[in-house]
Amino acid sequence: MNDIENLYRAVIMDHYKNPKNKGLVENSSYLKVHLNNPSCGDDIHVQLCLEDDQIKDIRHDGTGCSICCSSASIMSQTLKGQKTKKAKYIIRNFYELLKGTDKIDEDALEEAIVYKGVAKFPARIKCASLSWKALESLIEDADEEKN
Ligand code: ZN
Repeated sequence: MNDIENLYRAVIMDHYKNPKNKGLVENSSYLKVHLNNPSCGDDIHVQLCLEDDQIKDIRHDGTGCSICCSSASIMSQTLKGQKTKKAKYIIRNFYELLKGTDKIDEDALEEAIVYKGVAKFPARIKCASLSWKALESLIEDADEEKN
């Protein structure tokens, strides 16, 4: 394992042990969704608070492997405060990262770049993308409601 892979692993383990934005809130203005990944046992809830087209807050909770739980933490940190359009752009780039393509905007991904190595382990791609899919579905629901 090279230095950069060691660094990525350390960031993932740090978010797994000390997750950001973890714990759901009792607030009816938050949109929420529950997704699971039976092949691994990951089970997460994600909440989204939007103000116009800006992400004011993201919360997550659940159980799962270190990849899934750390990814929910990094997703919330990366997308909180973004406009929904930018968030969708970042999410698309994250999916491309997991596919192992080179055509990605690494700067937009910020810390989410640490999942670069997941592309080599197809079974873990669902773990890494679960919380991002959850948030994407919430943004899409909100978009549909507006139209
Ligand atoms: Zn998993």
